[in-house]
Amino acid sequence: MKVDFLIVGAGFTGLTLAERLSNELDASCLVVERRGHLGGNAYDEYDAHGVLVHAYGPHYFRSDQPAVVDYLSRFTGWRPANYQVLSWTRSRYWRFPINLNTFEQLVGRTATEEEFQAYLARVREPVDAPRNSEDVIVSQVGRELYELFFKGYTEKQWRRSPAELDASVCGRIPVRTNRDDRYLRERFQAMPDQGYTALFRRMLAGCRRTMVLLNADYREVRAGVECGQVIYSGAIDEYFGYRAGVLPYRSLRFEAEHFTAEQLAGRESVSGRPGFWQPVVQVNYPNDFDFTRIVEAKHVTGQRCSGTTIVREFPQDYAPGGEAYYPVPNAAARRQYEAYAELAAREPDTLFAGRLATYRYLNMDEVVAQALALAARIKAGWADRRRRVA
Ligand SMILES: Cc1cc2nc3c(=O)[nH]c(=O)nc-3n(C[C@H](O)[C@H](O)[C@H](O)COP(=O)(O)OP(=O)(O)OC[C@H]3O[C@@H](n4cnc5c(N)ncnc54)[C@H](O)[C@@H]3O)c2cc1C
Repeated sequence: MKVDFLIVGAGFTGLTLAERLSNELDASCLVVERRGHLGGNAYDEYDAHGVLVHAYGPHYFRSDQPAVVDYLSRFTGWRPANYQVLSWTRSRYWRFPINLNTFEQLVGRTATEEEFQAYLARVREPVDAPRNSEDVIVSQVGRELYELFFKGYTEKQWRRSPAELDASVCGRIPVRTNRDDRYLRERFQAMPDQGYTALFRRMLAGCRRTMVLLNADYREVRAGVECGQVIYSGAIDEYFGYRAGVLPYRSLRFEAEHFTAEQLAGRESVSGRPGFWQPVVQVNYPNDFDFTRIVEAKHVTGQRCSGTTIVREFPQDYAPGGEAYYPVPNAAARRQYEAYAELAAREPDTLFAGRLATYRYLNMDEVVAQALALAARIKAGWADRRRRVA
């Protein structure tokens, strides 16, 4: 088989590139995906009870990049979302991320913003330049709140102390002294109105001269495909046969449980709507149980159905052959990745893009932005490349 681009992975990265390159350059693309579906980790599906669930963990779309939102809006409408999170510890729900309501729960009475600021000024441990996730939280809210909400969660999730992880891991979570308890900071926060998989199907339907092979591993397909360039969005260490060692990742195990309307009697969402198991879409369990969080996607998908499905998320160690979910964000892992980045730079006919191929913690909008930028770069050099090949 002969194509212009062999694209590995049918997630946001692979499909954005297939759509752009096939339409903008009239290039032929073959997308190979080793899973049996489109969408990578953002894939969602209806479970056996007809509830729309996120198969690889909750995906909350958010963005401060209008160009990315405009691009994806060609393939989906949006449903505004309020991603609300609570934290369960000391046998009760706490308002989270930390805000004035959380402080009131801590002191057991109503309080003002000024009182909360005075408390923080007293307990925070100033650090000039926070170097890690412990520094970044303790310097904002002090030890008690750090231990209540961050320390145990991070240790469970990463099997490392927050002091061993980049400041960005815990620093992503806002701390506010007012009553704003939105989990995320970005201006645009919304879910694809028909779900992610519907979005991916429309992206693919919009591609010209593109074929997708599901259940196909790149390593098995490569020899039979003649192509101008490979675009690879899988794990970079796997691509190079782990020759600079196995990069550290964290993996996850998901456990779903379904509840019928009868089993939900007496339970409701924070807004008072029946048909929900927990009050909000996500409850964190920093200090109890082996799982880190329980997610009930129905809160944000907007699906109207009488039953519901919750998913418990258990962090797992990773070994090659398993699912690599999170690249480990610390200096040692980055140094190890640099060896692979050097190998990649010497591979002119393969371009590496996406979360696992660039070994970075990237959100969906960031990988789409990265893929759009790469497509623009390829377009800029396209005429030249065609001439050379001819
Ligand atoms: C648990 C979890 C929760 C997340 N929550 C959010 C969130 O709330 N908001 C947000 O913005 N982002 C979130 N993300 C990040 C989001 O999943 C990524 O940004 C996005 O999926 C990356 O897209 P991608 O195409 O680069 O990679 P992926 O989605 O990982 O797709 C890569 C694809 O390549 C395939 N592949 C790999 N190797 C091969 C091979 N050798 N042959 C064939 N196919 C191969 C894989 O099967 C996979 O389908 C979350 C990620 C995880 C793990």
